[in-house]
Amino acid sequence: MRSLDDLLAEGVSGRRVLLRADLNVPLDKQTREITDDGRIRASLPTLQALRDGGARVVVAAHLGRPKGAPDPQFSLAPVAARLGELLGSTVPLATDVAGEDAKAKVAALADGDVLLLENVRFEAAETSKDDAERRELADRLAALADLYVDDAFGAVHRKHASVFDVAERLPHAAGRLVARELEVLTRLTTDPERPYVVVLGGSKVSDKLAVIEALLPKVDRLLVGGGMCFTFLAAQGHGVGKSLLEADQVDTCRRLLAEAGDRIVLPVDVVCSPEFSADVETTVVPVDAIPDDQMGLDVGPRTVELFGTTLGNAGTVFWNGPMGVFELAPFQDGTRGVARAVSAVAGLSVVGGGDSAAAVRVLGLDEDAYGHISTGGGASLEYLEGRELPGLQVLADGSGL
Ligand code: ADP
Ligand code: MG
Repeated sequence: MRSLDDLLAEGVSGRRVLLRADLNVPLDKQTREITDDGRIRASLPTLQALRDGGARVVVAAHLGRPKGAPDPQFSLAPVAARLGELLGSTVPLATDVAGEDAKAKVAALADGDVLLLENVRFEAAETSKDDAERRELADRLAALADLYVDDAFGAVHRKHASVFDVAERLPHAAGRLVARELEVLTRLTTDPERPYVVVLGGSKVSDKLAVIEALLPKVDRLLVGGGMCFTFLAAQGHGVGKSLLEADQVDTCRRLLAEAGDRIVLPVDVVCSPEFSADVETTVVPVDAIPDDQMGLDVGPRTVELFGTTLGNAGTVFWNGPMGVFELAPFQDGTRGVARAVSAVAGLSVVGGGDSAAAVRVLGLDEDAYGHISTGGGASLEYLEGRELPGLQVLADGSGL
């Protein structure tokens, strides 16, 4: 796989570089303001290096899940504005992805300039399962540039036109962010420092069963919190009230507990409330006493202590998924406590997952205290499962043209 430095060494001055970046940031539903610009900031090192090299940078990115057609709600306009602020120079936004406006704006670029293309998912072909459809879009994207750099780690597990097909059409290299993510994931999968502790949370256990299965044989401890812990608690025979429960996964969780129960650590107490709301009375109960009419929305203080003790002597930690509904103030403490314990780990600590990374920042924790905060949740989980990631495969294939 060619690195950005390889590309820079060959010289990018005056060349048009299509940079696939991951700028998929959360926006406030009402004001459309960016609530966490972590992904934009994470894309800056590669962008800046290309500019410094005199490249004409054409950035392709997606935002949210528009339905394959232009939709102002998903415009990258707020991202272009923020990117411009961070770079200290205006970043124009093309009104289309790879159409007439994009072509005209690319033609107008000077060395060191940056242009952002409109949300690639405004083109249905971007995510199409039909190879011919994706390739037609990839042809148009490739025509905008001379070189391709993929720095969108959060999208490398997708076989999308701007991630996969376009890399087959242009000389390519991996950006700094992709390189860094790969370095860290390699450390997690090759001989991690022991004890190796994985903390999983988030909402759905079904989303993460594959990674649980893949990780269980490799970890010393798997700590489970978040909404997914209730399916495990149900598998142990506890009533979980109105908490998130995936009834069809209970048997699988029961099997996992039978196979590796000594390594799986579940919460001992939970924060309950009668409804999903920010101003509601909460109670902390032991896991065997969750009232029928309440839902568990965070792990309790004794669980934070238990998880903290297990994390205390960890040599390597991977954490994915908030411990509770951290978006609501009454249910933040579990995530904050575990986030603190993860950050205090002396060995390598890695946070993976969009919401987990956002939680670190939103809850006011020190980002620098972690070994690495991954920008790609799905991508890092699929990597840890041992799956082939199309976006990485295509970068590794061939000579980079
Ligand atoms: P990540 O993006 O880090 O991989 P997920 O997307 O899997 O994390 O999960 C994040 C979501 O899980 C958050 O929106 C959070 O509110 C939700 N969540 C955490 N704990 C619970 C719970 N007990 N009940 C319902 N939802 C929960
Ligand atoms: Mg998420």
